[in-house]
Amino acid sequence: MTKLALHWQIAIGMAIGASLGISLNIFGGTRTTVVQAEQLPSTLTALTIQDSPNHITIDWTTVSGEERSAVVDGTRKTPGAAATVDELQHTQPDAASWFHRFGRSTSRTVGEAAQHVGNLFLRLLQMVAVPLIITSLICGITGLGDAASLGGMFLRTILYYVCTSAAAITIGLVAVNIFQPGITDNAASPVGGPEPGGQSLGTLLFEQVERMIPTNPVAAIADSHFLSIISFTLAFSIFAVIVGGKTLSAVRAAAEAGFEVMMAMTMAIIALAPLGVLCLMLFVTATQGPAVFASLFWYLLTVIAALMTHALIVLPLILKFVARRDPIAYAKALSPALLTAFSSASSNGTLPLTMACVENRAGVDNRVSSFVLPLGATINMDGTALYEAVAVLFIGQLYHGAVLPLEQQLIVAITALLASIGAAGIPHAGLVMMIVILQAVGLPIEMQGIILAVDRVLDMFRTSVNVWSDSCGCAVVEALEQRSKAMKPATTT
Ligand code: ASP
Repeated sequence: MTKLALHWQIAIGMAIGASLGISLNIFGGTRTTVVQAEQLPSTLTALTIQDSPNHITIDWTTVSGEERSAVVDGTRKTPGAAATVDELQHTQPDAASWFHRFGRSTSRTVGEAAQHVGNLFLRLLQMVAVPLIITSLICGITGLGDAASLGGMFLRTILYYVCTSAAAITIGLVAVNIFQPGITDNAASPVGGPEPGGQSLGTLLFEQVERMIPTNPVAAIADSHFLSIISFTLAFSIFAVIVGGKTLSAVRAAAEAGFEVMMAMTMAIIALAPLGVLCLMLFVTATQGPAVFASLFWYLLTVIAALMTHALIVLPLILKFVARRDPIAYAKALSPALLTAFSSASSNGTLPLTMACVENRAGVDNRVSSFVLPLGATINMDGTALYEAVAVLFIGQLYHGAVLPLEQQLIVAITALLASIGAAGIPHAGLVMMIVILQAVGLPIEMQGIILAVDRVLDMFRTSVNVWSDSCGCAVVEALEQRSKAMKPATTT
């Protein structure tokens, strides 16, 4: 019997996880628990917990007769409510622990168990990420031969990042102006004024520059600070090339040996992707449920339609006409990475898989992929940039009841680009960076609460687009490198 191709295995895992999770959510997503007297904590005389996918209410009466309650509301429409159970853990730890002990619905219990198993898969990927990046980058740079070709590749890579991110933001702006998802939805009411304080964009960007100069490279490796690791490894490799001779050969040989082992480990972990993806999908669908999407339907549709336009039209066209590659074959080669990015919502987490797919399945030269991918996972985020622009303009439409003026949209576009560069490749990082854009155009940051409930699902889509763009970047930069090399003898003779 022939073995099913890996991307089919992952797609099937994803479908099984999603259908199990949705069924669980529909049939076991809500639960009301009245805790029996004999089980009650000694400080209470009554405790009732209601759990539903995006709303948890915990009511209790203390021995002194005081009636109290705690609410978790994923949409943050309930004043004073926590947005997540984790947040409740900080604000009202007792209520959170009672909820965990007595009140979780079946779908939440199963979903969280699946999350633990799915996280094991992500941990495996995280385990190989740093050594893989370091060895791969050293192999790539020392293999380039001279600093001039590195400079050329660097410029082409940055040019690709900026052009595709700008295209993504433009698509987002056009979509949000056509669909106007915030104008038809009157459910949200304006709350408060712009929040003062917080970090300015300048400060945030300067922090990124600081990160590029780690005071202690070993600590940067221990803390997985990707930008610090990349810049130090880059500097180390360049100086190895400058020193040259035996030293360069020794450095290259060691890095190549390490890289080979790390790649073999990564390929072994890939075999677990179907199971990991199944568990992660089960977790998201079992805990979120379909109901939450109804209220934000137009907003969801706008973001997804814009992301799809970028991923299925713009990037394939670039791939076809600049890289001269067949977009469908390239997407097939990348599918394990794209599906893992979708279910994990982390481009950093997916990086080892992306590297393995780009090199082993799509046949891109390691010298290009080892440079373009780690840098791209950190700073090139088309999906995030597009998402930031749409989300902020949606909030603006809700807040003002009108489309934001063109100058404000331009500020959103520029800050969205910078915010996407600053965002880390981890789940929900885009949401954190959005605060900067909201502040830049004077929108209240609490209004972010409205889109919180659907952030995870949009994160899955935008992360896949981020990874897809990085991967297409490899093919594009490789093609440009080859063309510039082919032209050199003609110009120099
Ligand atoms: N989760 C995204 C990524 O890892 C970042 C974001 O939140 O937009 O690429």
